[in-house]
Order: sequence, then C-alpha cells, then structure tokens
Amino acid sequence: MNYIYKFEKKVHFIIVILITLILCLVFYLEYKPNAYEIRMNNECIAYVKNIEAFEASIKDLEKELNKKFKKFKFTDKFTYSKIHIEYKYLTSKNDIEKNIINNSKTKVEPIEIKKTTEIKKSTQIKQNTVKEKAKVAATNKIRLLRPCNGRVSSSFGMRNGKMHKGMDIANHMGSTIHSAYDGVVSYAGWISGYGKVIKIDHGGGLETTYAHCSSINVKKNQHVKKGDKIGEVGSTGRSTGPHVHFEVRVNGVPQNPAKYV
Ligand SMILES: [Zn+2]
Repeated sequence: MNYIYKFEKKVHFIIVILITLILCLVFYLEYKPNAYEIRMNNECIAYVKNIEAFEASIKDLEKELNKKFKKFKFTDKFTYSKIHIEYKYLTSKNDIEKNIINNSKTKVEPIEIKKTTEIKKSTQIKQNTVKEKAKVAATNKIRLLRPCNGRVSSSFGMRNGKMHKGMDIANHMGSTIHSAYDGVVSYAGWISGYGKVIKIDHGGGLETTYAHCSSINVKKNQHVKKGDKIGEVGSTGRSTGPHVHFEVRVNGVPQNPAKYV
C-alpha cells in the first residue's frame, strides 16, 4: 500500500511539471519577440520584421533624397527594441518613408526651391532703386510707436472664422491717436467699415492705418513725425465701441502689429 501511494504521488508531481512546461512553451510561442520597434529621435516610426531590410531601405531613401536635395544625409538617431507584434500591424514601406521624412530633424534644402527664391530676390533687387533697398532693409528693423494708450481688445489674426487684419486698442472717445512713424498721410477720409480712417505711407512699402476715428487731424499729403497727433479715438464705421483699429502693411500685405510695436 505504502509503495503504491508513493508511486501515485510521483506521477502527480511529474504531470504538474509537464503541464507547467507546456504552458510556458505556449506562452513563449505566443509572446516571443518577433519584430522590432524602431524609434527615430525617440518617436516610434515603424514596426518591422527585419532590421537589415530596414537599414537597407534607409540607405535607398537617402539616395533618393540625395537626388532631390543637396548632399542629403540623415543625422537622426535610430534606436531599435525587440517586441512581439501581430504581423498585420507591421508598418508598410510607404508609411515608413513618410514617417522618416516627417520626423527627421535633418535640414533639407530643395534645390529647385532655392533656385526660384534666388531668382525672385534678384529681380526684386533690380526693380528697387538703391534708396528703396535701404528702406526695405530698414523696414525689417523699424520700431513703431503704439498709436494709442489703452488695452489691446483684439489682436491680429483669425477672429470668428474671419481674418482680423489689425490690432484693436480700446480707449475713451476722444483719446489721442499718434502717428506710429515718420511718413506722409496717404489717405484721410471715410472708408466703408473702417469709418473715419487715416493711412500713413512710411516709405519702403510700409504703411499704417488708423480706423474708426471720431476726428481726423491731418490732411492728405501732410508730412507727419513719429508721435504726432493725427486723430482721435472713436467708433465710426463697423465698430462696437471706442477703439482704434491699427493696421501695419508691408507692400499691401497685413502684418501683425504686435511685431512692430
Ligand atoms: Zn479691428
């Protein structure tokens, strides 16, 4: 009896060991690393089966980019880690290329684009006289005076789905509006929406606009200095309260006034 009991206990023990081993094997087969996660500058960009194939595809991509861009070479850091993944989640070659290009910190300079900007620049320079060139250069550094004291009630940019082309400065009715810079009054009168409006041409393509005034204190073609009183704050035109709508344009293109004042 005692012998049989001992034998049964041994068999039980062996069965338990076998089941554990089988479970381990199943678990290993199910979850063993079968692919690589590739990170570029610490962003995951792809899951691939084979590292060698991935490295070869980077070299191909580099060659291809070399044709489009000048002396292109990735300076990005690639790291790999083994993972388990279902093969349907592997990243396609096209997506890998897209992700690499999107995540690359390598500076690329398209040859074609560079050429066109150079052509544009040279024609522009020919068009401008030497004096104008100096003015255009100065425009980039000009500090404008804030035309009025008060709170910025609305800044430059998209507003309710529409572009707000200037900066609104709210102040009491009748507060002084100053010229933001030396220049010549290019317009003084009424414009639909803007109400009573003053425009000053500062040369070099730079122009400032002051809208919704209650009164205008300058005339067209009048020379003004930076800080001169040109008008008073009002609410004429399309306006919901007394403020000056201040615009800065360079060659007619609205700029963010905050960058100039
Ligand atoms: Zn405005």
